Amino acid sequence: MQFDESIIRNVVAQVLAEVGNAPPATSGFTGRYGIFDCADEAVRAAREAFEKLSERTIEDRKRIIDHIRRISIDQKVELGTMEMNETKIGRLAHKIEKLELLGRKTPGVEFLRSEVYSGDHGLAVIEHAPFGVIGCITPVTHSLPTITGNAVNMIAGGNTLVVNPHPSGKKVAAEGVRRFNKAIYDDLGIDNLICVVAEPTLESADLIFHHRDVAMICVTGGPAVARAALNSGKKAVVAGPGNPPVVVDETADLDRAARCIIQGGAYDNNLLCISEKEVFVVNSVFDEMMRAMERAGAVRLNGSEIDRLTSVAITEYGDPGKKKQVAAKEFIGQDAAVLARAAGKNISSDVELVFGETDEHNPFVPVEQMMPFIPFVRCHDVDEAIEKARYYEHGFRHTAIIHSNNVRNMTKMGRMMDTTLFVKNGPCASALGVGGEGYISFSIATPTGEGVTTPLTFTRERRCSLIDDLCILGHPAKG
Ligand code: NAD
Repeated sequence: MQFDESIIRNVVAQVLAEVGNAPPATSGFTGRYGIFDCADEAVRAAREAFEKLSERTIEDRKRIIDHIRRISIDQKVELGTMEMNETKIGRLAHKIEKLELLGRKTPGVEFLRSEVYSGDHGLAVIEHAPFGVIGCITPVTHSLPTITGNAVNMIAGGNTLVVNPHPSGKKVAAEGVRRFNKAIYDDLGIDNLICVVAEPTLESADLIFHHRDVAMICVTGGPAVARAALNSGKKAVVAGPGNPPVVVDETADLDRAARCIIQGGAYDNNLLCISEKEVFVVNSVFDEMMRAMERAGAVRLNGSEIDRLTSVAITEYGDPGKKKQVAAKEFIGQDAAVLARAAGKNISSDVELVFGETDEHNPFVPVEQMMPFIPFVRCHDVDEAIEKARYYEHGFRHTAIIHSNNVRNMTKMGRMMDTTLFVKNGPCASALGVGGEGYISFSIATPTGEGVTTPLTFTRERRCSLIDDLCILGHPAKG
């Protein structure tokens, strides 16, 4: 009988890690450029890289991040195409654009700061220190872009990371990580700042969640991984699911609202967690709003077409008695023309979004569909629209949008929704600094409350106090 040595090595490493007795980090991982079959080895390599990064300057961190930015921007077409071909969801132009956006706009070391308290009793300085190795779980909807954003944020904070990517986006994750690490190693001589499990499984995720050398977890994904991270016993930053509702009131600029809903709802075929998912419109402008959507280029489905689409695009999942409606995998992130065909309608492949009137009980309203079909629900007035938006957001406290020129309505909705992102009169992505103010990350921490992640999200506060000296203001009485 023949044994595969690498399997034995992995099993031994896994057992040692589980009993908290992993061998100390060695320097044998250089040249792997972050690619590991074994999750335990990936963590140990990232720990070794963390020790090396800790000896470097902030300026070096900036240089490292500049390589990640450069590769994301310069190689966006090749890497974006790779992501599209592997995941087979979304739209190529947006896969490419997302890499550029994350490369350009994710906050890096410039976001770091210290706070100072100076007074009668001297000086206290609060600085932001790294955690160490951060375990990351990334979604299929943006495999490499999420890694790009996480890596920039986390390395700016002085950390290293181990990524367990979604199995359907693992190849582009590994290739991106390999390119990042190689460029960094060639320039600065440190390898494995970003490690990736090449064959990710739920078991490798679990090993990372419980590894003694992983100081913190950051997960980006749906309800199951959010729950797993919160149960891990480690500090977790959880970027969980959303179901962003849109309200349109009678004061809105309807043509502008339509353009924004198409821009946000059709982006990457609605894969963004912040994308417009369902729209509640007050009755007095409902019909005009539907015409505005058509003027802006979306195609309207009628009732029977919506029923046909719903019957194939929404399915059930779970044990008998506990079944939940979910988006059907075959339709997630597909083009509007594919959805229209399933509804029995032929439309041009240029159409970005299909839409139609439904009541609130159509499953497209409660389900996070991640498809470019948007249901529009007629409401008596703005209060009913806001109340329904609140209900169908499911308490995720993720993202909500209003189109209105009435500040009372904006304020009322903002207060009631209590979401992490609240957009007024723009497409969803304007909340991430794309056509609006602010900065980007593709990990928007919702249940754990950190919001759009930054380098400071991945740091620990440390306070250094000097008593009675170095405050140079005034002439306190001699004690
Ligand atoms: P998903 O939940 O199916 O998978 C996300 C990741 O979690 C994958 O790597 C998957 O392998 C892993 N995973 C799933 N169950 C797990 C478990 N029990 N233990 C460990 N790992 C587990 O989601 P997806 O389809 O890849 O991505 C879409 C979802 O992610 C949507 O719900 C979307 O709203 C959410 N999302 C949120 C944000 C945010 O910033 N809040 C960003 C992007 C996506």
